[in-house]
Amino acid sequence: MRTIEIAQFACLSDNYGFLVHDPKSGQTACIDTPETGPVMQALDARGWQLSHIWNTHHHFDHAGNNLEIKEKTGCQIIGPAGEADKIPGIDVAVDDGDKLSLGEHAVSVLNVGGHTLGHIAYHLPETHNAFVGDSLFALGCGRVFEGTMAQMWASLQKLTDLPDGTTIYCAHEYTAANAAFAISVDPDNADLQERVRQITALREDGKPTVPTEIGLERATNPFLRPHDAGIRAHLNMTDAADVDVFAEIRSRKDSF
Ligand code: ZN
Ligand code: FE
Repeated sequence: MRTIEIAQFACLSDNYGFLVHDPKSGQTACIDTPETGPVMQALDARGWQLSHIWNTHHHFDHAGNNLEIKEKTGCQIIGPAGEADKIPGIDVAVDDGDKLSLGEHAVSVLNVGGHTLGHIAYHLPETHNAFVGDSLFALGCGRVFEGTMAQMWASLQKLTDLPDGTTIYCAHEYTAANAAFAISVDPDNADLQERVRQITALREDGKPTVPTEIGLERATNPFLRPHDAGIRAHLNMTDAADVDVFAEIRSRKDSF
């Protein structure tokens, strides 16, 4: 049984930083570089040495501290091929279907473009973990800045297809705002109503709602549920294609 250790810590106003550590080899990857201080503190607190940065996309709160952290640690930077020219210090460019490793752990790269064109996610199938950046959020999804609605919907379907029990590490604590929107388009979903109660309680205690789990997202995240009869009825889109229902939900969230 191969084990992996994951550290999660707050950065900036609402980002999360993550470290993934393979105890056997000692290799440690940092998912994105939202802030230098908290990353270095998280490493030092555990006695881990950074071997890799895995960038999900080029936005400043994800790749902005690449060079500083590389200089301090000598790590290798892996990032999205589709936006390699915007990833500071990139050493290895990867895209959909590429295989990486952390020690003996296999890591699969998924292209989940839409928020940015080249956005990628990192999936560790043996330990059922996925680091998804700003593609999928707890009860939400990333704003479609660079890609098309169809591209974003295709990307989200790849994440929806991950096996039940896959833990989803998203890059922001946006869940309370996402919950308020979700209930506005899917008001009769009992699973969602229960989840909103849990999220409210967690946030009142100042606790994170990240990570989440893919089965829970499938049942409650409206951006993964354009096929749902209740949502379709609520939007007056009973006969529309899934991608069009998704696009309507995403547009409504943009102005919510
Ligand atoms: Zn972003
Ligand atoms: Fe972000």
